[in-house]
Amino acid sequence: MSGIYIHIPFCKQACSYCDFHFSTKMTSKDQMIEALCMELKMRKDSFAQDQIASIYFGGGTPSVLSPIEIERLIEAVYSHYSITDNPEITLEANPDDLSEDYIQALSKTKVNRISVGIQSFHQEDLSFMNRAHNASQSKEALHWVKQYFDNYSIDLIYGVPMSGRTSEEQDLLWIENVTMALAFSPNHISAYALTVEPKTVLDHQIKSGKLPPLDESRAHAQFNELRRMLKDAAYEHYEFSNFSKQGFYAVNNSGYWEGKRYMGVGPSSHSYDGESRSWNAASNPLYIKAIFEGIRPFEVEYLSVSERYNEYIMTGLRTTKGVELAKINALFGPEYESYVIKEAQKKIAEGLLELVNETVLKITAPGLFFTDGIVAQLFYID
Ligand code: SF4
Repeated sequence: MSGIYIHIPFCKQACSYCDFHFSTKMTSKDQMIEALCMELKMRKDSFAQDQIASIYFGGGTPSVLSPIEIERLIEAVYSHYSITDNPEITLEANPDDLSEDYIQALSKTKVNRISVGIQSFHQEDLSFMNRAHNASQSKEALHWVKQYFDNYSIDLIYGVPMSGRTSEEQDLLWIENVTMALAFSPNHISAYALTVEPKTVLDHQIKSGKLPPLDESRAHAQFNELRRMLKDAAYEHYEFSNFSKQGFYAVNNSGYWEGKRYMGVGPSSHSYDGESRSWNAASNPLYIKAIFEGIRPFEVEYLSVSERYNEYIMTGLRTTKGVELAKINALFGPEYESYVIKEAQKKIAEGLLELVNETVLKITAPGLFFTDGIVAQLFYID
């Protein structure tokens, strides 16, 4: 089973923390849709043997497209690829786009899952992050999504600093955010720590002294609170940033974590065919021009054994399944199995990693917040 990712590279305004590829100029939207359809057709032979189990519209902001434009892209996928009987078709959407009319029209397309970029129910957070929507739109959007879709996910961001607020007040506001999300009872919740990516507005604000550096201890406390609250509400914490009710793991993202093949179309999108990774040019005009000339503008890298091992460690340890020693041995060789066992010892002794039944390496509950650092220590550097 494989997946297709479609990148919609437009946003109404730039969020202060975001380093994804997007443009706030929408004048090329029609040409972009045409180019995406052309790329889907152009690459059909490379995924001719694959059964497509998920189609994912990410961005950018896919909900800047009309339901008719979204359906046109879905039909382009259906005409060139072999799709499973009941694929997951997800649209990332921002609350300010989700009027009742829009959601109702969307419910008549093949989209069957919406991932709503709520991020916060508090205006203070939304203004800090320069989100395009306001706090009342966060709630209104979910009200309408719930009327028309059974399957939807809520995105939240924790660790957002609030000047003039004590740590306790910030944590209480986060608890209110999670409580509000739970009140809608979504099948799935994704929660990400606010991070400072290079060359973003947030990065500039911190480097220029306009804002203090982010306080990691708040993010840690709020992550722990999130885990506790979602566990009490019977959500499974199945991946570092993802929580699901039973049977509602995200099919598309699970494919990434399980090392399955996927095709990304659109500017900046990545693809993986089991041996190599490729990525399209991150420029809307360049992408459109090249595709209209019949050329896909991309770069490719073939993964070495150690790079594939590193990928497996990184994606596997972020999930509750962990990484299997036998699989490491079979896929990468016995020296990699010996390497990971040796490198893991220190973190096992610190209680941050555990070797379950001597066969599966997993992050422990106290280690979870430090997953990225632990993973980095197990990487094999050639
Ligand atoms: S809406 Fe999403 S993609 Fe667009 S700027 Fe904000 S975080 Fe980035």
